[in-house]
Amino acid sequence: MAHTTVRPVDVIMHKRQGREHDAVELEAFLRGYLAGEVPDYQVSAWLMAVCWRGMTDRETAALTGLMTRSGEVLDLGDLPHTVDKHSTGGVGDKTSLVLAPLLAAAGATVAKMSGRGLGHTGGTVDKLESIPGFRAGLDQRAFLEQARAVGIVVAGQSKALAPADGLLYALRDATATVESLPLIASSIMSKKLAGGAGSIVLDVKVGSGAFFGTVEEARALAETMIAIGRHAGRNMRAVLSSMAQPLGRAVGNALEVSEAVDCLQGGGPADLRELCLVLAGEVLEATGLHTPRRRLETLLDGGHALERFERWIAAQGGDVGALDGLERAPGQELVRAERSGALAALDALAVGRAAGVLGAGRARKGERVDAGVGVVLHAKVGDPVVAGEPIVTLYHRDGRGLEEARELARKAVRIADAAQASPLILETGLG
Ligand code: URA
Repeated sequence: MAHTTVRPVDVIMHKRQGREHDAVELEAFLRGYLAGEVPDYQVSAWLMAVCWRGMTDRETAALTGLMTRSGEVLDLGDLPHTVDKHSTGGVGDKTSLVLAPLLAAAGATVAKMSGRGLGHTGGTVDKLESIPGFRAGLDQRAFLEQARAVGIVVAGQSKALAPADGLLYALRDATATVESLPLIASSIMSKKLAGGAGSIVLDVKVGSGAFFGTVEEARALAETMIAIGRHAGRNMRAVLSSMAQPLGRAVGNALEVSEAVDCLQGGGPADLRELCLVLAGEVLEATGLHTPRRRLETLLDGGHALERFERWIAAQGGDVGALDGLERAPGQELVRAERSGALAALDALAVGRAAGVLGAGRARKGERVDAGVGVVLHAKVGDPVVAGEPIVTLYHRDGRGLEEARELARKAVRIADAAQASPLILETGLG
């Protein structure tokens, strides 16, 4: 912080006392950090103060702007109807694999950067990389060329975009300061804004497998991100969706790609299809391509979205012919219903952790994920179940993590005499 009189210790103290930072103070602190003049330990202390004291909308918007401008901001130029989607993360969430081709088939351009997952299950890029040959590392020229030619490109998150977020996220991860609304909102939105899309739809998850357990908290996160995006001139929409149970029936990288392909063939689980149709409707309307629900269904059922998907995968080197027989780990173990009744709960977090211990996710950056392991659910909440019938299949490799996964899967399941299906879409039309 050589060019300013702002002292890091004062910035930390101001936040600890619950005061609002002015733009100069915040900028000097963050720039000092990026220049290596403010050490990690002071930024860590500040992050913890933010966790406890929060940030005003003005501070959150200023922080997002600084993080967005810490690197390149993509210019998607004259590409038509550029759209992007962000999900706040969930178990079995493979919506991007279906949504991107559905949106492209409806006339939008999906130019998207996506992270490798850190946590129980892989991220979108990990799932795509379970397709033999698929390349997620594209330079900017190839990225833009493919967006123009195919209408879809999904690449690994570029380090050149919002690098401040990468640095701050690593500190947050190591200092138990991830779960803060303004820090989550600014982290997500800095990457989305740097990605350059004109319209953005947010799928904010609620439930055990999500950052927030209540609709109120999730709505507050959605509204903060919408305000940030609007302020930056983007068309914003958000949907709140349930993550009380996993989305769809497959959890694990290749298993999820196969399920997404089913959905693109007009089949697949009803909840996955529904969420994709809702998100597509919202963002297409935001970008001025109003598309009735019936038309979206036709794009899925008539193979138009599938055709886009195959062009996209082939453009990034993926072997489309392999999609029918993606690798599944050879070991299979069934977890059976202990009694008859109806499935009353299927805890998303526990199922996600089961997939994680089998090897579907990574605990540390850079670890390899196993494409073929994971969990397949044979029942969803509200379904009748019969004692002794399988509820879950665990796909494992040589028994790795199997004992723990079995225990987690058993704990995830609750059977009652009767149970209702739980709602998936909790709120739409935000934005
Ligand atoms: N995803 C992000 O990109 N950032 C967060 O802070 C949390 C989830």
